[in-house]
Amino acid sequence: MRLQFVGAAREVTGSAHLVHVLGRTILLDCGLFQGRRAEVGRRNRALPYAVDRIDAVVLSHAHIDHAGRLPFLVAEGYRGDIHATTATRDLCEVMLADSAHIQEKDAEFLRRHRKEAADPLYTLRDVSTTLTQMRPHRYRERFEVVPGVHARFTDAGHILGSASVTLEWEEDGQRRRLGFSGDIGRSGLPIIRDPEPVEDVDWLLMESTYGDRDHTSVAGARDQLARVIRETVARGGRVLIPAFAVGRTQELLYDLHQLTHEGRIPRVPVVIDSPLAHEATEVFRENTRDFDTSEPMVRAHDGDLAQLFDFEQLRFTPAVEDSKAVMRSHGPMIVIAASGMAESGRILHHLAHSAGDPRSTILIVGFQAAHTLGRRIVDRVPALKVFGEEVPLRAQVEVLTGYSAHADRGELRRWLQAVRASSPRFADLFLVHGEAAAQDAFLADLAGRGIAATAPEPGTVVTR
Ligand SMILES: [Zn+2]
Repeated sequence: MRLQFVGAAREVTGSAHLVHVLGRTILLDCGLFQGRRAEVGRRNRALPYAVDRIDAVVLSHAHIDHAGRLPFLVAEGYRGDIHATTATRDLCEVMLADSAHIQEKDAEFLRRHRKEAADPLYTLRDVSTTLTQMRPHRYRERFEVVPGVHARFTDAGHILGSASVTLEWEEDGQRRRLGFSGDIGRSGLPIIRDPEPVEDVDWLLMESTYGDRDHTSVAGARDQLARVIRETVARGGRVLIPAFAVGRTQELLYDLHQLTHEGRIPRVPVVIDSPLAHEATEVFRENTRDFDTSEPMVRAHDGDLAQLFDFEQLRFTPAVEDSKAVMRSHGPMIVIAASGMAESGRILHHLAHSAGDPRSTILIVGFQAAHTLGRRIVDRVPALKVFGEEVPLRAQVEVLTGYSAHADRGELRRWLQAVRASSPRFADLFLVHGEAAAQDAFLADLAGRGIAATAPEPGTVVTR
């Protein structure tokens, strides 16, 4: 068995790992690199391996940093299967189309403003072809990926449809199992189930995004959300929440529904200004079988789970005119818009409008990668550059870590302990999907507990 670390190695984007086994090659994830435009443009066009030598793709979840390069792989000639859970397939339909749209707009921007010849990384047509190659599976179903190698998805508890992957095969009369965590979620997150550790593995690829820190509890995050909304509304300001359209937006909706129901926040308009979030919410309505039925609101809506995302103050504004009307209107409101790291999407219009208003609050609820506008907001720079214009940052900035869809250090440790406890032949732990500082801290933490691990550099090849 040979492992090749080609993406999300010492960083958090571009998830891609090659597994060479029984003479075949399996690609785990095919994510987009995100960050500085010029740099990622080049990296996204450099595929990790000859397309005609990849035999199968297994996808952990629909986030763009895990799935966003699939249409490019297909555009470059990949014709094999792409295995995923059913909900991941449904979310990919929405998210990859949105990504294609962004790629086309980026290329147009370069052509117009920089006079550079630029083709989009991929188009909607490539996305349609990609979807025809996707093979949906239920959690825990055992399926053959390439001859002699079987796979199984277990719930990673990170976003709807998210999975950890176990590959299994026989070599020299021995059964071998490789685990890939995908992104590990948190216990107690609204809507989705708690993470289920992989079992009985020889080798493990494990994410380490928050290997260096602990989050506020999920319940604590809901209390903070209520406080920020009450304070901002009292000042007459707007609460702007840059959020991933998929997952975070639905969790926030769930909590806003509950807080409104309990009378803990004032009844101000809640605007979901994102066509993608609107479509993603429809996918949630169609995949309620994956919801966590131990959640109180889920139980309360037992008869009709799709109604979880409906309450009086809520408005979706997929049409541009409605979005503009929201911008022009007065008075306090809560606006949730993509993208989650404020790199693109309608949140930019809202930031241009309200970042200079000291009554308003920019509420950060997710991980902000280096070099993104979201990270600069967290760092409270004096001015933001939005659409080429300087906007002074006078709004309040609040960071809620409890809404992270990623396990924190303690949760990663517990997940790993469960894997090791069920794995008598456990041999190697490889950390992936973490910035170097987080990984180094987690490596030290593990070493202090007598657990050996490595965090492979990009391009590392490991043979076992
Ligand atoms: Zn993810």
